[in-house]
Amino acid sequence: MTGTGSALADRLAQGTVLGAEGYVFELERRGYVKAGAYVPEAVLDFPDAVTELHREFLRAGADVMVALTYYAHREKLRQVGRESDLEAMNRQAVRLAREVAAEGGALVAGNVCNTWAYDPQDAATADVVRAMYAEQLGWAADEGIDFVIAETNDYLGEALIGLEVSQELGLPAMVTLATTRPAKTWDGYGYVEACKILAGHGAAIVGLNCDRGPATMLPLIARIRDQVDCAVAAQPVAYRTDEASPTMESLRAEGVDRVFPLALDPFSCTRFEMADFAVAARDLGVSYVGICCGAGPHHVRAMAEALGRKVPASKYSPSMDLHPILGAAASSQDPDALDAWNVTL
Ligand SMILES: [Zn+2]
Repeated sequence: MTGTGSALADRLAQGTVLGAEGYVFELERRGYVKAGAYVPEAVLDFPDAVTELHREFLRAGADVMVALTYYAHREKLRQVGRESDLEAMNRQAVRLAREVAAEGGALVAGNVCNTWAYDPQDAATADVVRAMYAEQLGWAADEGIDFVIAETNDYLGEALIGLEVSQELGLPAMVTLATTRPAKTWDGYGYVEACKILAGHGAAIVGLNCDRGPATMLPLIARIRDQVDCAVAAQPVAYRTDEASPTMESLRAEGVDRVFPLALDPFSCTRFEMADFAVAARDLGVSYVGICCGAGPHHVRAMAEALGRKVPASKYSPSMDLHPILGAAASSQDPDALDAWNVTL
């Protein structure tokens, strides 16, 4: 399965696909997801909140509505005492994504992620993971999805299981790796090598998501783009990582015990930085350009506009000429106004 002839392949043929994720982080900030477990209980408890965020991303230009089934797998639901809600949560997540996607002609992606149950030294865990993916993606396929996003894979071995289950269901798959370690997956494959193996096994799209911000994901994605034949995805977190702290988990700030995951705000990328990333990734030949944890709809709109698009939310894009102090008309009337604003106490 290469994705040929699929809705995903058709969309990729039309140009850069813009993705938007980070649902769990954003819904946590809004009070609908508990940090720690990060299980998307809001899908059942506050479906309107999930729908609203889908719609915000759609209006901002996202081409794909990703069903919020991240961490909605058996292992995680058991931990929060909601295993009996597993099927309902997975089905409902796809329905919510589909409803909003239909409002703007977006694709619908099913979603699976790392399970924390996989151990390359213990073959039995592969069967456990396979069973979890099979039930999640079986329900998703039943509800109707265009493709699968299998993401934040720490292990190549676990990523391959997600790909195989997708293929068994006849669904194209985008498989992306987490890059929490400097150079290799947790089962010891260089990130480029792991992407080549995934591409060789028929993934429609391979690449990276989460963990790294634009600055530290771009150099790695450039190497992947050079080395694989299929489409490539890059969905960084919207945080300012750098060489010293290449992942959001490794960011540190003075006076703060732990930055990740609850005190990342000072490291947030601006909309302009994410717009620059979108252009840089597109220019590298990345086909699926997106954003992960830390994303807000303002980032996505800026990325869409940087890619040359006018989107529904562009109606409210900035017009700083209308600003009462920053606008040209205002400053010509009162040249001191801006100076007064800039006084430091
Ligand atoms: Zn993320």
